[in-house]
Amino acid sequence: MSATILDGKAFAAKIRGEIADHVERLAADHGIKPGLAVVLVGEDPASQVYVRSKGKQTNEVGMASFEHRLDVATPEADLLDLVEQLNEDPEVHGILVQLPLPDHMNADAVINAIDPGKDVDGFHISNVGRLGTGQKSMVPCTPLGCLMMLRDHHGSLSGLDAVVVGRSNIVGKPMAQLLLGDSCTVTIAHSRTKDLPGVARRADIVVAAVGRPGMVTAEWIKPGATVIDVGINRVDAGGGKTRLVGDVDYQSAVEVAGAITPVPGGVGPMTIACLLANTLTACCRANGLPEPEGLTA
Ligand code: NAP
Repeated sequence: MSATILDGKAFAAKIRGEIADHVERLAADHGIKPGLAVVLVGEDPASQVYVRSKGKQTNEVGMASFEHRLDVATPEADLLDLVEQLNEDPEVHGILVQLPLPDHMNADAVINAIDPGKDVDGFHISNVGRLGTGQKSMVPCTPLGCLMMLRDHHGSLSGLDAVVVGRSNIVGKPMAQLLLGDSCTVTIAHSRTKDLPGVARRADIVVAAVGRPGMVTAEWIKPGATVIDVGINRVDAGGGKTRLVGDVDYQSAVEVAGAITPVPGGVGPMTIACLLANTLTACCRANGLPEPEGLTA
């Protein structure tokens, strides 16, 4: 049996279409244009690619995109001043400070300086606390994208056993909170978990967010389970070339799983779509308007 392929590229395109329609209605009915400000400090090549892609997709759905590129040696105080300006700017509804920041900056201090209502990455301590206590919050984009794909495939997630492999603040922990919020029975596994293959094999849903190429093999998967592969790993493809692979050994897993996300083309495209969704949600909240349906947790 071969698994259903959960096509994140197509799903993300559908979500961007819904967002574009909503943005058009906001302009027509209220004269409002959602705006997303992205701040990049330094010249990390991967971050530059992400920021370019975010700016392009923001414009494509009809939102305003504001890019701020700062020199790698910028003092932290200057970055905090910029964040404060963006907090006050009524045209900016979402603020994203691209991580990682240079070593001389305290990322927690910078993230916690963002107005929580504009924190479209969902990393502000107040949003983390709100998510953990089941209150309305801004939800981190990558786990939100995973949740949307799971809801789309399963309908209700209630009562399902979910294992999240990885406990990072940006993926593993918020993913577990979201699954708990949808009434899954959740296990968070990590590098010290005993018998990880056995733990994963109990699950109806396995989310792999580890950063180790092909770690989750067919033997880890209960037949028919849904496998969400968050990993993005660049590996040697021979001839001086590289290719992207996930944390799941796709070739073997696809034969056992009931549904699986590919890499590339699975979770990756959903992340930016959810960033745009969060910006739209933030804009609606800031203006006291109803939030778009199906785009938040
Ligand atoms: P991270 O901060 O490095 O966290 C990795 C987690 O995996 C840690 O909790 C670690 O456990 C756990 N881990 C490491 N080795 C393990 C092992 N052998 N067995 C079990 N657990 C192990 O990574 P992250 O930021 O969450 O990212 C994870 C992956 O997702 C990366 O490949 C990243 O590139 C990708 N990612 C993709 C997107 C996207 O848009 N698709 C977004 C973000 C991240 P300990 O806590 O015990 O060390």
